[in-house]
Amino acid sequence: MEKVPAYKCSFCKPSSPSLFLSRSGVKKHEERCWLNPARRSCATCANLASVGEVDTGWKCLKGICTPFKEKVENCPHYESSGDIFDNGCED
Ligand SMILES: [Zn+2]
Repeated sequence: MEKVPAYKCSFCKPSSPSLFLSRSGVKKHEERCWLNPARRSCATCANLASVGEVDTGWKCLKGICTPFKEKVENCPHYESSGDIFDNGCED
């Protein structure tokens, strides 16, 4: 086996990083990465809220969509949360 250097997406969660062997590969990914705030998707939106303590799932506080069921991007109601969603059970 051989150890090789890799590029990591700047937006993917540290617990599930996306790694690429080429700079062009990671650039391509970052452009369409769901967690890139420039995409204005549910994943980084302040209007994303968890459904409840018991139920797992997400709701849109603006009622625009069902987050992650419909892949909304460039949402006109997007407000940056300055963070990415955290479902608390990934790491
Ligand atoms: Zn990514």
